[in-house]
Amino acid sequence: MIIQQRPEPLEILLFRALFERLVLLENHIIFSEKGYEGELRSDKWLEGLTDNWLVLHGLLLEYNGSKFQIDTLIVAHEKIYLLDVKNYEGDYYLEDDKWFTKTNPNLKNPLHQMIRCETLLLKLLLELGYNYPIESYLIFNNPEFHLYMTTINPSIIFPSQLNRFLKKLNTRPIKLNSNHHKLAQQLASLHIVESPYLRLPPYTFEQIKKGILCPACRTYFLEACKGIFICGHCGCKESADAAVLRNVKEYRLLFPDSKITTNDIYEWCGRIVSKKVIRRILLKNFKLKGFGPSSNFV
Ligand SMILES: [Zn+2]
Repeated sequence: MIIQQRPEPLEILLFRALFERLVLLENHIIFSEKGYEGELRSDKWLEGLTDNWLVLHGLLLEYNGSKFQIDTLIVAHEKIYLLDVKNYEGDYYLEDDKWFTKTNPNLKNPLHQMIRCETLLLKLLLELGYNYPIESYLIFNNPEFHLYMTTINPSIIFPSQLNRFLKKLNTRPIKLNSNHHKLAQQLASLHIVESPYLRLPPYTFEQIKKGILCPACRTYFLEACKGIFICGHCGCKESADAAVLRNVKEYRLLFPDSKITTNDIYEWCGRIVSKKVIRRILLKNFKLKGFGPSSNFV
């Protein structure tokens, strides 16, 4: 039974919108989407778990001022499983305690991260009055991943072991009682919802490239002809009204605290739609508040 679904990644939407207008973010967005992709793959794989387990995805918890993220937590009868999912791709090396690739000689040790998480969770559980052992696994679920290592570590699960690992879990006794349910609900209620805006690099209206992006290929529209935009790159057509509205939506996503004014939207659309037309579109879809230069749309 899934107690908590993985939260909607507003962060990815945001990064995507920013990325197209601010080139320097490229690496950040790829990283963020890859991680999410791996988590979704793991959620799908865990659907093979018998329904009696209590599963919580994407938990962000805090103990004593330290925040920690848990990809997947499973409440079982006698213990708690903590799964840390990694979507690594390519060849990795593990020697002694050092993780590296051919291009990066110094990688963060994901096992250390996992142990930190386990320690903090254990303390939090004790504080809540629960005394469950925790079993943690580092799950690599990208079939294109390989780790060269000298010693076997049973807490690392490779793509080729995923099915067997699930089978093993499914044969464990479950028999959950109300205490287990109470614990799962309690952890879900402690989940911290963090604003993804906090994790974005700083940006201002002035820094960002203005204009309307084609919905199909995301190149900038040039000019509307009789109220219709035709993409010079892919030929996609969109009415000026729909294109402006779509762009207003993106503006609200990137600048949630800014007011919507005719002038700002005119600038935001790259001055390719007249102020008169923008005002008409805004009047039709939003409520005008105030008068004169300070008026804005809500
Ligand atoms: Zn296009």
